[in-house]
Amino acid sequence: MTTITLAQGDITRQSADAIVNAANSSLLGGGGVDGAIHRRGGPAILEECRKLRASEYGGGLPTGRAVATTAGDLDARWVIHTVGPVWSPGEDRSELLASCYRASLGVADALGARTVAFPAISTGVYGWPMDDGARIAVETVRAARTSVEEVRFVLFDERAHEAFVRRLGRPHAR
Ligand code: ADP
Repeated sequence: MTTITLAQGDITRQSADAIVNAANSSLLGGGGVDGAIHRRGGPAILEECRKLRASEYGGGLPTGRAVATTAGDLDARWVIHTVGPVWSPGEDRSELLASCYRASLGVADALGARTVAFPAISTGVYGWPMDDGARIAVETVRAARTSVEEVRFVLFDERAHEAFVRRLGRPHAR
């Protein structure tokens, strides 16, 4: 049974077995969550990402997939990098966004992670509307078959936090 919890703030301040990064396919850093994770997690994460680019992910990490590295200086054992789809008004990419959550939980299961912190994937630079991003996140995690005990959505601001509270349909501690 997976418990879904919510927190508001900076995901790099969380303590969890695994922290999920809303990465881009280059795996070599970016803005938003990605920039924060590399800044606070230190160079060990980027070093492993570079190794992944030099080996099985020479073409980058495809959208909807996930891969783990060390968490460096973060209070976690692993960072799970996943690449969300860019929002498109003309094309339904929901399945790719759902795939990010499923694939990340699959990697977490393979590692034996029991607590996993997720950001609201794709809802920043990639432009996904927050309410729909929250819907897909919650529905996908609820439907997932996983041994992860706690999935914690870590929402950067009040607006995102409220969207997840509405979607979960019950009040949650910060
Ligand atoms: P994407 O490129 O997948 O949209 P972003 O990192 O730009 O990824 O944004 C994803 C979500 O994470 C957005 O809602 C953004 O406000 C939020 N966010 C940005 N920085 C942080 C952070 N340090 N901790 C938690 N959430 C963050």
